[in-house]
Amino acid sequence: MDDSLRNSGPAPSVIIVGGGLAGMSAAIALVRQGVSVTLLESRHRLGGRVGSYVDPVSGELIDYCQHVGMACCTNLRQLIDWLDQRELWEIQKELHFYGPDGRHQPLAALPVLPAPLHLASWLWKWPGLTLRDRLSVALGLRSLDRVVIADEAHETSAIQWLLELKQTRLAVERFWKTVVVSALGEELEQVSLGAVAKVFQDGFLRHRDAFHLLVPLRPLTELFGLLAVERLRAAGVNVQLGCTVRSLVRGGRDCLGVELGDGSQWRADHTIVAVPWHRFGPLVERNDDSREPDSWMETALRASQLASSPISGVHTWWDRPWLETPHAVLVGRLCQWVFPRIQQSQTSGEDSSAQGDTEHYYQIVISASRSLSTIKSTARHAANDVDSQSSVDASWSLEQLIHADLAQVFPGVASAKLLRLKAVTDPHAVFSANTRAHRLRPKADALGDTLSLAGDWTATSWPATMESAVLSGFLAAEQILKRYNITICLRAPPL
Ligand SMILES: Cc1cc2nc3c(=O)[nH]c(=O)nc-3n(C[C@H](O)[C@H](O)[C@H](O)COP(=O)(O)OP(=O)(O)OC[C@H]3O[C@@H](n4cnc5c(N)ncnc54)[C@H](O)[C@@H]3O)c2cc1C
Repeated sequence: MDDSLRNSGPAPSVIIVGGGLAGMSAAIALVRQGVSVTLLESRHRLGGRVGSYVDPVSGELIDYCQHVGMACCTNLRQLIDWLDQRELWEIQKELHFYGPDGRHQPLAALPVLPAPLHLASWLWKWPGLTLRDRLSVALGLRSLDRVVIADEAHETSAIQWLLELKQTRLAVERFWKTVVVSALGEELEQVSLGAVAKVFQDGFLRHRDAFHLLVPLRPLTELFGLLAVERLRAAGVNVQLGCTVRSLVRGGRDCLGVELGDGSQWRADHTIVAVPWHRFGPLVERNDDSREPDSWMETALRASQLASSPISGVHTWWDRPWLETPHAVLVGRLCQWVFPRIQQSQTSGEDSSAQGDTEHYYQIVISASRSLSTIKSTARHAANDVDSQSSVDASWSLEQLIHADLAQVFPGVASAKLLRLKAVTDPHAVFSANTRAHRLRPKADALGDTLSLAGDWTATSWPATMESAVLSGFLAAEQILKRYNITICLRAPPL
C-alpha cells in the first residue's frame, strides 16, 4: 500500500455512489493512497452489471451473462491483482471458432512473428471465407491499423467506411460482424469507425497477446459481490450496501455530498458518481435547489442522449454434453458465443454434482439482441425479461430457434434434448458506440473539483466494457489525488 496521504494530517474523505466495477476501482485506488472512502451501493451486492443469480433448480450461482475480458484489458487485470483474484481468472490463448457449416477452427497466434503478422493464420483459416474475402479483410485490417482514433473517426460510420473500402459481402457478414457485434455489443450498422478501430488496434493488431481471453473461473457474484467486498473492507473502505442515493447535495458550485432515500445526508470533501448513464440524470434532478449548476444539467442531458444496446444471456440445460472446447465463437449465426458451466465455489456449501450429472449447462450469449423480444419461450423457466431479436421465423419458440441454430453447428445437439432454458436480457447492457456517443461522454473532471464522474460511459476511449469501467474509476481517483498535489498514474500501462 502506498500510504501517500496517511501521514499528512486528516485524510480527505470521498463518497462514491455506485458499487459496480467503476466505483470499486476508484475505491480501492483511493484507499491505497490513504483516502477515507465510503462506497454507497443501492443493491445488496457489489458488481453492478457484473453479477449472478441462484438457479432455483440446481441451487447454483449462474452469471446473468458471461463476462470475458482480453489480455489487452490491463486496468481490469490491475483491479484483479489488487483484489487478490489472479488465481480466480484464466487466460485462454486459443479462440475456438465454428463456421456456419460447423467446421471447428481453433485460432492462435503464429509463433515468433511480431504483431500484426502473428494473426496471419487467422486470415488464412477464418471460417466461411473465399480467398477473395480473405484478401479483402487483409486490406481492411491494414487500413484500420492506420486510422487515427480521434473526433473524425468517432463520427464516421464503420459500415460506410468498410463499404467505401469495397469489403466483400462475406467479409462484412462473417468477419467484421462476428468481431464487432461481440466486442461492442452493437450492430455493425450502428457503430462508429473510432470504436471499431479501438477494438482491432488494441485487441488484435498491436500486441501478440492482446486477443487472449481473460475468463473468470468463479461466478461473478462470488468474485465481485462477495470476495471483493471482503477485500475492500479489509483495506479500509466503508462499504454500505442497500444504500440508494437520491440526490447530490449542492453548495454553490460545489458538491457537498449525497442525500439518501430516507432524507439523511452524507457529506465528504469529494463525491464520485459511478452510476450508469441512464441513472445519472435523476441524481441531479432531485437536487433540493431550484437552480442547478449548468454543467451538471448539461452533462445529465447529454448522458440521457446515449443510446443503450441490449445483450442476452440464454441459459440452457441439456440431457447430455455436446461441446468439447472451453468456449465457442459462432460465425454468422443467431447464437454468437457458447460457454460451458464454470466451477462452483468450494466454500458455498452447495453440492451441485448430482444435478451436474443429469443436466449439462451451456450459456449462449447474443449481443445487440433487440429482435429476441418478438420470440416467445415455452420453457418452464423462460424469462419474462427476454427482450431480444431474430430475423428468423417469429412463430418459433426461443427453444426451437436455439436448438435449430446450434444443431447446424454442433452434431451432438441434434440428438440432445434441451431440458430447460432461461433467457436474461439487460436492455441497458452497454451504451451504443454509435457516431454520436463520443461527444456525449463526459470526462472524469467535467463537473469541477468536488464532483467526479466514473462509469464505463465516461470518456475513457474504450467502448462499454469492464476495462472502461475500471479505467474510469482510476481516472476519477487520479483527479481527486491531484487536488492534494499527488500526481500519480494509477492506470496500468497498455500491453
Ligand atoms: C449482459 C451483459 C454482458 C456484458 N458482457 C461483457 C463482457 O463480456 N466483457 C466486458 O468487458 N463487458 C461486458 N459487459 C459490460 C460491463 O458489464 C460493463 O461495462 C461494466 O460492468 C460497467 O460497470 P460500471 O461500474 O460502469 O456500471 P454498473 O456495473 O452499472 O455499476 C453501477 C452501480 O451503481 C449502482 N447505482 C445506480 N444508481 C445508484 C444510486 N442512486 N445509489 C447507489 N447506487 C446506485 C448500481 O446498482 C450499480 O451497482 C456486459 C454487460 C452486460 C449487461
